[in-house]
Amino acid sequence: MTTTDTTGTALAEALARAFAGHFGHDADGVWQAPGRVNLIGEHTDYNDGLVLPFAINRTTTVAVAARADRTVRLASAFAGADPVEFDLDTFTPDQAAGWSAYPAGVAWELERAGITVPGFDLFVSSDVPVGAGLSSSAALECAVALALSDLTGAGLGRADLAAIGRRAENNVVGAPTGIMDQSASMLGTRDCAVYLDCRDLSSRPVPLGLEESGLLCLVIDTKVSHAHATGGYAERRSSCVQGARAMGVGALRDLDAADLPRAERILDDVPFRRVRHIVTENERVARTAELLATHGPLAIGELLDASHRSMRDDFEISCPELNLAVDAARAGGAIGARMTGGGFGGSAIALVPVDDADRARTAVLAGFAARGLRVPDIFAVLPAEGARRL
Ligand code: ADP
Ligand code: MG
Repeated sequence: MTTTDTTGTALAEALARAFAGHFGHDADGVWQAPGRVNLIGEHTDYNDGLVLPFAINRTTTVAVAARADRTVRLASAFAGADPVEFDLDTFTPDQAAGWSAYPAGVAWELERAGITVPGFDLFVSSDVPVGAGLSSSAALECAVALALSDLTGAGLGRADLAAIGRRAENNVVGAPTGIMDQSASMLGTRDCAVYLDCRDLSSRPVPLGLEESGLLCLVIDTKVSHAHATGGYAERRSSCVQGARAMGVGALRDLDAADLPRAERILDDVPFRRVRHIVTENERVARTAELLATHGPLAIGELLDASHRSMRDDFEISCPELNLAVDAARAGGAIGARMTGGGFGGSAIALVPVDDADRARTAVLAGFAARGLRVPDIFAVLPAEGARRL
């Protein structure tokens, strides 16, 4: 964990030892990138819209050594992630299977961007829960992207590295996700969220002030797994494209609340509700950033709740476990709560006064137990800095 070891020295040394144990030689360096929580702004990124995620104090760390040839060897401490070896000269995206698609995809996309990547040995370790909606995928992509950018001397900027990670996920992993996760992981700063306009990619840090306001951000990992490469995520994405086309705009970002009556007239019920989620969610993101600046985080609870209702009822990406997590956390004292991430499982977040944290935790555990559901994992996260070399 990085909470107490702010320099990451102990973690870097442990990973360097694991690397040497596995590959039989030393690493050139150790790089780290965080997972993220999305405070608000769900499925808005690929609609050219607004998002407000923050990087968290759960990180993925990679030890890497460049090689003299074009061989890539990948290993991870993560159970079930078998070592993988391939040659950069013969690699094609359809060869990339399982977890190796993320680091291999980053190397491949760097090469497509004109950067010659040497072969490399890479060892991964992470405390970002995998598949929990906290973007262990972006954490892995961003750690690898920063490492390879440093090792090749490419010196790419953070926004460019985020774009490389996203292209790896889209083109090699095959998940049609937007730019939010990688942006949070690359651009995060301590105690701040990243306000990102996904149309022009302009971004700015927004101080969260959780500690000053006596609030904790609790993550409730429902342990319901999601898969973004297939199914609901891709389906929602294509409904948004169709909704924009029917409304005669390039992207749903171009609509606002004043367009909703017309949308309701010309669209069927389901596509209309998909459009309404995106339009109202963009407005909630802008309003959340405003309220954080003027009134602090105690003022944003209702917006988090409204965002959850919109995802539950209009966009229909929640699930019973996420709804239960949100409702129980609210009943246990949270000032606002919502599912976070792409949906269909994963995690919810709840902003909870420090003094109510135990009560909220107990309420959620009791709710899950009463329904015979798997015990959720509940933990606090802090807004932390983005990817870095240790
Ligand atoms: P999320 O990003 O919400 O955690 P994803 O399904 O997008 O979920 O990404 C999870 C996948 O990323 C894992 O199934 C695995 O392939 C890869 N991954 C993430 N972290 C690691 C790790 N430490 N070691 C190996 N693979 C990892
Ligand atoms: Mg992911």
